[in-house]
Amino acid sequence: MSGEAAKGGGRKALDELVGELVKPDFALRHRRVPEVPEGGGHVSPEVLAMVPPRSRYVRRWRRHARHCLACATVFRYYGLSLD
Ligand SMILES: [Zn+2]
Repeated sequence: MSGEAAKGGGRKALDELVGELVKPDFALRHRRVPEVPEGGGHVSPEVLAMVPPRSRYVRRWRRHARHCLACATVFRYYGLSLD
Protein backbone atom coordinates (compact mmCIF):
# COMPACT_ATOMS: atom_id res chain seq x y z
CA MET A 1 0.00 0.00 0.00
CA SER A 2 2.67 2.43 0.95
CA GLY A 3 4.54 1.37 -2.19
CA GLU A 4 1.56 2.26 -4.34
CA ALA A 5 1.20 5.60 -2.59
CA ALA A 6 4.87 6.42 -3.14
CA LYS A 7 4.56 5.44 -6.78
CA GLY A 8 1.53 7.67 -7.20
CA GLY A 9 3.31 10.54 -5.48
CA GLY A 10 6.34 10.17 -7.69
CA ARG A 11 4.17 10.18 -10.77
CA LYS A 12 2.46 13.35 -9.67
CA ALA A 13 5.76 15.04 -8.93
CA LEU A 14 7.02 14.11 -12.38
CA ASP A 15 3.93 15.53 -14.03
CA GLU A 16 4.41 18.74 -12.10
CA LEU A 17 8.06 18.90 -13.12
CA VAL A 18 7.18 18.41 -16.78
CA GLY A 19 4.61 21.18 -16.36
CA GLU A 20 7.36 23.39 -14.95
CA LEU A 21 9.73 22.58 -17.79
CA VAL A 22 7.40 23.91 -20.47
CA LYS A 23 6.94 27.23 -18.72
CA PRO A 24 8.97 29.82 -20.61
CA ASP A 25 10.50 31.32 -17.51
CA PHE A 26 11.80 27.98 -16.23
CA ALA A 27 14.73 27.96 -18.64
CA LEU A 28 15.53 31.56 -17.80
CA ARG A 29 15.49 30.94 -14.07
CA HIS A 30 17.73 27.91 -14.45
CA ARG A 31 20.17 29.49 -16.85
CA ARG A 32 21.36 31.93 -14.25
CA VAL A 33 25.02 32.33 -13.53
CA PRO A 34 26.19 29.69 -11.05
CA GLU A 35 26.52 31.03 -7.53
CA VAL A 36 29.46 30.71 -5.21
CA PRO A 37 29.14 30.52 -1.42
CA GLU A 38 28.64 33.89 0.25
CA GLY A 39 31.27 35.52 2.39
CA GLY A 40 34.20 35.87 0.00
CA GLY A 41 37.11 33.52 -0.59
CA HIS A 42 35.67 32.57 -3.96
CA VAL A 43 35.79 33.92 -7.46
CA SER A 44 33.26 36.65 -8.27
CA PRO A 45 31.02 35.55 -11.17
CA GLU A 46 30.31 39.22 -11.94
CA VAL A 47 34.01 40.04 -12.28
CA LEU A 48 34.76 36.85 -14.18
CA ALA A 49 32.10 37.82 -16.70
CA MET A 50 33.91 41.08 -17.48
CA VAL A 51 37.62 40.31 -17.37
CA PRO A 52 39.52 38.88 -20.37
CA PRO A 53 40.19 35.11 -20.26
CA ARG A 54 43.94 35.73 -20.03
CA SER A 55 43.74 38.37 -17.36
CA ARG A 56 45.56 38.20 -14.06
CA TYR A 57 42.24 37.80 -12.32
CA VAL A 58 41.42 34.62 -14.21
CA ARG A 59 44.90 33.19 -13.71
CA ARG A 60 44.79 33.95 -10.03
CA TRP A 61 41.44 32.27 -9.45
CA ARG A 62 42.05 29.35 -11.77
CA ARG A 63 44.31 27.71 -9.19
CA HIS A 64 41.59 28.05 -6.59
CA ALA A 65 38.90 26.79 -8.99
CA ARG A 66 40.84 23.59 -9.60
CA HIS A 67 40.01 22.44 -6.09
CA CYS A 68 36.78 24.36 -5.51
CA LEU A 69 33.71 22.87 -7.16
CA ALA A 70 31.62 26.05 -6.88
CA CYS A 71 34.25 28.18 -8.58
CA ALA A 72 35.04 25.48 -11.16
CA THR A 73 31.37 25.57 -12.14
CA VAL A 74 31.57 29.33 -12.68
CA PHE A 75 34.71 28.95 -14.78
CA ARG A 76 33.05 26.32 -16.96
CA TYR A 77 29.93 28.46 -17.26
CA TYR A 78 32.03 31.17 -18.89
CA GLY A 79 33.89 28.62 -21.01
CA LEU A 80 37.16 29.14 -19.17
CA SER A 81 39.54 26.20 -19.00
CA LEU A 82 40.95 25.11 -15.66
CA ASP A 83 44.14 23.71 -17.20
ZN1 LIG B 1 35.76 28.79 -4.61
